[in-house]
Amino acid sequence: MKTPLILRNLDLPHLCDICGQRRSQGDHKRCSRKRQQIGQQRRQQEAQ
Ligand SMILES: [Zn+2]
Repeated sequence: MKTPLILRNLDLPHLCDICGQRRSQGDHKRCSRKRQQIGQQRRQQEAQ
């Protein structure tokens, strides 16, 4: 059973789960988009 990237980093809530930098620092719009892509990929993989 694989642990999803997002769930794996839930123990670091102050860090962005995509780029690993502080959420309060920088622009994470790309990260949220990437997070959505990962979610869609997971959904597609589960559908196969
Ligand atoms: Zn980020």
